[in-house]
Amino acid sequence: MFNIVIFGPPGSGKGTQSANIAKQYGLVHLSTGDLFRHEIQIQSPVGKEANRYISKGQLVPDAITLRLLYKHASKHINDPGIIFDGFPRTLNQAIMLDRMMNKKGIKVNLVIGIEVEEEELINRIKHRSRTSTRDDDDEKIIHNRMKIYHQQTYPVIEYYQKQGKYESISGMASVETVFQRLCAVIDQYKHEH
Ligand code: AMP
Repeated sequence: MFNIVIFGPPGSGKGTQSANIAKQYGLVHLSTGDLFRHEIQIQSPVGKEANRYISKGQLVPDAITLRLLYKHASKHINDPGIIFDGFPRTLNQAIMLDRMMNKKGIKVNLVIGIEVEEEELINRIKHRSRTSTRDDDDEKIIHNRMKIYHQQTYPVIEYYQKQGKYESISGMASVETVFQRLCAVIDQYKHEH
C-alpha cells in the first residue's frame, strides 16, 4: 500500500489537491472534515457531537475522530493506498495512526505539507465563505482554526520530520502548479522506493 498524508493549514487547498492526487494515483481519499460534514448532514449522533466543536472552529476530540477514521480506513486496507486529508491533526492522532497501521503491516509512506502565507490563507477563506455553506468559514471562526492549527497541528510536522517522511512544497501558486509540485514529490518518492 502507498499511503500519503496531506498536511496544511485551513485554506491551503489540501482538500482540492487531495482529490486530484487520489484520482491521479488511484488512491482512496479520506477527509475527516468531509466525513464529519456527512455525519452532520445525516444528523447522526456522531455528527451532532462533532458539530459542537466544528461550529466553534475547535478540533473534535481524538476519541470521536479516531473511531470515525478507523471505521472508514479499515474498509480500504486491501486497496492500493489512502490519501489522508485533514488527519492526523494532533500528535496523539499521528501516534495512533502509526499504531493502527503497524498492526496491519502497513505505514504512512509520505507526508507532504502545503505551505501558504497566513495573509493569503485568510483571504482565500474569506473568498470561500462568500459561496460556502460551511459555518466554520465565518471570519471569527477562521482565526480560531488558524490558532489551533499552530498550537495543536503544527507539532505533527516535527513528528514526521523525525521519521524522515516530511516534504513540503509552496502552495503560493495556481491549483495546477501546486498539483504539479505535489506530483513531483510523489513521483520522486516512488522513483526512490
Ligand atoms: P477540514 O475540512 O479538514 O478543514 O475540517 C473541518 C473541521 O472538522 C475542523 O475545523 C475540525 O473541527 C474538524 N476536524 C476535521 N479533521 C479533524 C481531525 N483530524 N481532528 C479533529 N477535528 C477534525
